[in-house]
This record gives sequence, structure tokens and C-alpha cells, in this order.
Amino acid sequence: MANLVAIVGRPNVGKSTLFNRLTQTRHAIVSDTAGTTRDRQYGKCQWNGREFSVVDTGGWVVKSDDIFEDAIRKQVLVATEEADLVLFLVDTETGVTDWDEDVAMILRRTKLPVLLVANKVDNSGESYQAAEFYKLGLGDPVCISAATGGGTGDLLDLLLERLKDAPDETVDQDIPRFAVVGRPNAGKSSIINAFIGEDRNIVTEIAGTTRDSIYTRYNKFGFDFYLVDTAGIRRKNKVTEDLEFYSVMRSIRSIENSDVCILMLDATRGIEAQDMNIFQLIQRNNKSLVVVVNKWDLVEDKNQKVIDTFENAIRKRMAPFVDFPIIFASALTKQRIFKVLETAKEVYQNRKRHIGTTKLNEVMLPIIEATPPQSVKGKYIKIKYCSQLPNTQIPSFVFYANLPQYVKEQYRRFLENKIRENWNLHGCPINVFVRQK
Ligand code: GDP
Ligand code: GDP
Repeated sequence: MANLVAIVGRPNVGKSTLFNRLTQTRHAIVSDTAGTTRDRQYGKCQWNGREFSVVDTGGWVVKSDDIFEDAIRKQVLVATEEADLVLFLVDTETGVTDWDEDVAMILRRTKLPVLLVANKVDNSGESYQAAEFYKLGLGDPVCISAATGGGTGDLLDLLLERLKDAPDETVDQDIPRFAVVGRPNAGKSSIINAFIGEDRNIVTEIAGTTRDSIYTRYNKFGFDFYLVDTAGIRRKNKVTEDLEFYSVMRSIRSIENSDVCILMLDATRGIEAQDMNIFQLIQRNNKSLVVVVNKWDLVEDKNQKVIDTFENAIRKRMAPFVDFPIIFASALTKQRIFKVLETAKEVYQNRKRHIGTTKLNEVMLPIIEATPPQSVKGKYIKIKYCSQLPNTQIPSFVFYANLPQYVKEQYRRFLENKIRENWNLHGCPINVFVRQK
């Protein structure tokens, strides 16, 4: 199970600088699609062979003055509920502020590990200034300079020491893990109830223990599956429920621990930035996808044209990944609920698909011969052979070429499309690599 670390702190203490430094340890997927700027607030960090996710809470604050501080305070609350460890960043240049004291009070009450981090200690002479943070009651501050990287290695060592290994739950590897995700009020709880019935006993809701078991196994309508983090979805927190940040933190946990994400959209609202943010989390984690356009009962004019328009709009926003199912359903009337589970299972099977090398070459080589990669600088590019790599997270194909560096992205996409045309990989991200033979 993945670990989640949240960076909290006032504006300008250096949260995003620290975030960038931590996540630089791993190549970030940069996307220039509109609405992806918040991508920068979620990333992965690798240190000493361990990996965890990092969230910069600064990215989700609404910039309106009167509710600003309150909003950040709520985010700190969410962080203490949803993260596995909190990095509380303070600024040595400004010293302790009232707000720091407020936040420290919240953090002192939590059972989570909290690391107090004094930033902007750019040279060792400045570390004496950090001593005043001791009075926040969160132990000795760890001195760093996010800007230069000073002290961040020690910080990471300490962080891994404090970060308990999340319990590795034994799940049956052959049974799909589905996560139901989507923005607040999209209908997540409703569809889960539709899947499993209103049986309150299925999910034991004991405060504080919800995180201990993230998977619940069900056998319904002839399908055997795990639902990820159902308890979390059912346990709603009135203070924070409507915060986008809350839904993001929830989504990260569910998405990271699933095979297939069932992304709930609200038919009455269309697709908005919040939906896109969750979609991007799904993509960043290479998870398979089923889109459910929920509340279909509320749409009056349900003709094919309306359906097509909806579908096109969704795929256009999510391009270039377009090969995924979209189901128009209603959690309320239970219309097509069975179809959603059936499709999620199919998508899971596609994810596990392995195409034999002989068959793959039989189909792909003639296609490549008919439409070879463009020659570059008079050099002829030849793809001789391809195969699917064994034991990968998602289906991954390698094409061996004499001059792989000259094969353009566009051609790689062409190969991907041809694979998708010939085999059912609906709903699954795939990798297509071109390598030197
Ligand atoms: P955030 O609002 O908490 O995300 O803060 P930023 O990461 O945007 O940083 C705010 C300002 O502090 C920027 O001008 C940074 O360049 C600066 N800053 C961040 N870390 C350090 C540091 O370690 N030392 C110094 N001197 N400045 C820093
Ligand atoms: P969540 O926040 O994503 O878990 O959303 P909920 O399941 O709590 O649903 C939010 C609201 O939308 C509730 O009032 C539900 O009754 C309503 N709702 C959910 N699904 C449907 C649906 O398919 N049709 C209609 N008409 N209402 C729905």
C-alpha cells in the first residue's frame, strides 16, 4: 500500500519549492493540456529504495482573502485525516506567526507523525534562528533549505524512519480492485450502495480504523471484486466534505490502491476542472478507466445525438487517451449498474492481457511494412520485430528498430492505435517503447 505525505504551511514558506525538490527524484510526467497545472501538486518521491506520494496542500487553496486562513486550516485538518505523515513547514526568515501556532495546535492533537521543518536555513549560521520553533511543541525543527537542497537528505531519512510501512494487506491478486472516484456529489456513495446494497454491516465504521483496511471484498451479481476505500467514501466529514482538497486526498488513496477506476461524472454538470484533476490522477498512476455518466435519470432528452455529444465531449477532454468505456447510468434507479460492474471486470481482464510474440509480429509487421516510419535525413528506419514485455503493471510493447531515436511520437501513437485496433485493450493505458535491436 502506498504512503501519502502532505506538506502544510502558510503561503510563501516554501512548500512548492520543497515539493519540487522531493518529486524531482522521479521523472514527472509533464502535460500541457489545459487544466493540468495542479498536477504539480501531486507527485512521487523515491528515496533509499522506497517510494511515497507527496501532496502540496498549497495548490488547492481558494485565493480569496476572507476565507483564506480558514481554508488553509481546514486543509490541515484534512491532511491529518487523510495523510500518513505531515510535513509542517515554517519560515525561518519570518519566525513563528499566530497562524503557525494555530496550526501547531491542530497538529499536536493528531496521532499522525508530524515533522516540523524550518525552511530557508540557507547556511549553517542561520540554524540558531530556527530554535524558536521549538516552542510550537512539535519537537526539534529539522532545518532545511528547500531552495538549495541543504538538509533535505536528512529530512528524507527522518521521514522514512517515521513513516510506518503501511500494512501490506493480503489481497487475492486474481481479483480486481475497483475504486469509485469522482468529485463530491457525483454519486460515489450511491453507486456503491447500488453495488452492494444498503447493508450497513458490510463496512465496519469505527472511527480511526478506516485506514487500516482499505479493501473490502464483495461477491455480488456473480462478480468477485474488491472495492477500495468504501469506508472512507461512506464516512463523510461535514466540515471538509465539500473541499476539493478533501476529494483529491481521498482520490489519491483510492486510485493508488486500485486496478480499475470507476470515474463518476454528474450528467447534470458535464465535465469540469475537478473531474479533470481526478482523471489526471488516474492517468499519472497508470490505472484502467471506466467512465460513468451518473444521474442519467435526470436528463430528459436521452436520444442518441445527446449521447454522442456527451461521449465526444468527454473523449475530447481526455485525449489523447480515448479508448475507454463510457456508461450512462443512474445510481438512484440502478439503471445499468450491472453493466458498470461487468465493464469494470472486462477492463481489468484487458489490463492483464498478454499477446503472444508470434501473433503480435504476424499482425504488426505487415502494418509497419505498409506504413513505415518516415526516414530521417535520408536514413531508412527499420522496425524488425516486436514483443510484449512480461510482468509489467500495464501492457507494455517494445518495437526493436535500427534507429529508435528517429522514431517520432506520432509514429509511436500510430503503433499504439494499431495495437488497440487489433486487440481489446479498452480502458487500459499501454506503453509503447521503441528500442535499439
Ligand atoms: P509556498 O507558497 O509555500 O508554496 O512557497 P514557495 O515555494 O512558492 O516559496 C515562496 C518564496 O520563498 C519563493 O520566492 C521561494 O524562492 C522562496 N524560498 C523557498 N525556499 C527557500 C529557501 O530555502 N531559502 C530561501 N532563501 N528562499 C526560499
Ligand atoms: P458522493 O458525494 O459522490 O458520494 O455522492 P452521493 O452518492 O452522496 O450523491 C450525492 C447526491 O446525488 C445525493 O443527494 C444522491 O441522492 C444524488 N444522486 C446520486 N446518484 C444519483 C442518480 O443517479 N440520480 C439522481 N437523480 N440523483 C443521484
